[in-house]
Amino acid sequence: MKWNRVVGRRCLHTFPVGIAFIACALAFGAPASAGDDHDGAFLNGPGEKIRSQRPDRDLRNILRNVDRRQVENTISTLASFGTRHTLSTQTDPNRGIGAATAWVFQTLQGYAAQSHGHMTVELQTFVQPTTPPRIPQDTVITNVIATLHGSTNPERVYVVSGHIDSRVTDVLEFEPEQPAADDDASGVAVVMEAARVMSTHQPEATIVFTVVAGEEQGLFGSAFEAAAYKAAGTDIQGMFSFDIVGNSVQDDGSRHPHTLRLFTEGVPTTETANEGAIRRAVGGEVDSVSRQLGRFARSVADNDETDMNIWIIYRRDRYLRGSDHLSYLNQSYPAARFTEPNEVFEHEHQNTRVENGVQFGDLLEFVDFSYVQRVARVNVATVWSLANGPGTPKGLLILTQALTNSSDLVWTRGTEPDLAGYEVVWRETTDSDWTHVIPVGDVTSATIPHFTKDNVFIGVRAVDHDGHHSPVAFPQPQF
Ligand SMILES: [Zn+2]
Repeated sequence: MKWNRVVGRRCLHTFPVGIAFIACALAFGAPASAGDDHDGAFLNGPGEKIRSQRPDRDLRNILRNVDRRQVENTISTLASFGTRHTLSTQTDPNRGIGAATAWVFQTLQGYAAQSHGHMTVELQTFVQPTTPPRIPQDTVITNVIATLHGSTNPERVYVVSGHIDSRVTDVLEFEPEQPAADDDASGVAVVMEAARVMSTHQPEATIVFTVVAGEEQGLFGSAFEAAAYKAAGTDIQGMFSFDIVGNSVQDDGSRHPHTLRLFTEGVPTTETANEGAIRRAVGGEVDSVSRQLGRFARSVADNDETDMNIWIIYRRDRYLRGSDHLSYLNQSYPAARFTEPNEVFEHEHQNTRVENGVQFGDLLEFVDFSYVQRVARVNVATVWSLANGPGTPKGLLILTQALTNSSDLVWTRGTEPDLAGYEVVWRETTDSDWTHVIPVGDVTSATIPHFTKDNVFIGVRAVDHDGHHSPVAFPQPQF
């Protein structure tokens, strides 16, 4: 899939138009007549071919500190608490979700102690009222939140989460042993390892590393957390849930150790009727803020330094499943979910047992710790790049008051001290990712003459003096 994409691009840019269609047709195995109804006008569109953002030296140095043994230690320690079910004991010092949460809190406090005051750690505790069927009585739920405060733009926030709680076959049974190594000790390990390696650095914007609870009972911890951020007016410009990120072997035995799925929603969960009407008129169902966040993640974290391919899925989550990114989508924050490429359902949400010679259970032996290490690198590369680049442009409008074959855009200037300017990006409407970039300088409006917005999708991103980009903003039409 990726190879085809690259070949497709190369076709568009390496060959004269006529030859390009022959070459592309060969590459895709399509009949040569496939290009007959397309005169190739856009192949000569403005700008340069867009490139991925390579990790710079600072980021490469941090990525090298992501440690497989740390990841393994976190997962095996979490597994040692016997169960982490939301309804399990919160007073036993060695067993249950209370002891596991205390260990996460203390460990993150240790990372904060080496942060020169830049990282703070708190427990966010609340009582979830009885909520049948999965919360049978009032239950105390506790999230752990480690905040690495930004230097120049602390008001802009990015969040990464894993969930600490576990379940077995019966979601209400809280006594049975459940290591929950993959779901989701692996995600907690990815979040905690990112917190560890970044704690000695201060990004420009703020990063929140959070370990949430109550996920299996109905996303209760993250729902409370996201609502609290919303109520406080927090400007969260990106959130990622890392949930089930530890297994690299499919149930047919095939291995996918260098692939990580990223689920991104299309039509926004909280789209209003008016926004829906605009979208139906001019498109944009593949250009939600979550999709732009996903494209950004692939641009900065799919490379040799992470040693991972990011496989974007155009779907909010898998069939019948969800994760804590939904809580943030419900508050209109851009959010997406990372998860392993193939799942083995005998190892998820199951009592540990052997049936007909098949081992059921979410056991340590099924976790590929090197894979989790690479996922942690993806986490670091993504949030580091977000928090050290400019924020996503705000107030972006594409002007549509007059019929014209030019494209006119306006937006609001960002407040980053190292902001260098802006870039207009575009792609054909049938492409899945941005293909071209046009630098326009430190301005708050741009006109692309003789290039009609009717035939392409157009966006704007910010760039700083070090060449770090923001995610792309997709414009609203100004009628
Ligand atoms: Zn999970």
